[in-house]
Amino acid sequence: MKKDLNMEKECAKCHGRGKINNTICAACNGTGTVLTEDGLKILKFLRDGIRTSES
Ligand SMILES: [Zn+2]
Repeated sequence: MKKDLNMEKECAKCHGRGKINNTICAACNGTGTVLTEDGLKILKFLRDGIRTSES
């Protein structure tokens, strides 16, 4: 499966492992991935969209 838009990228702190020295990585919460700028934009867009439709 190929994604055209990358919303997540490998965590630079733990290099995608989710843990640093057996401790859950604080930067990605142990997921091994963090949101990219595109991912943050999409989340913000979705939140704003929900807010707009509620008013
Ligand atoms: Zn991490």
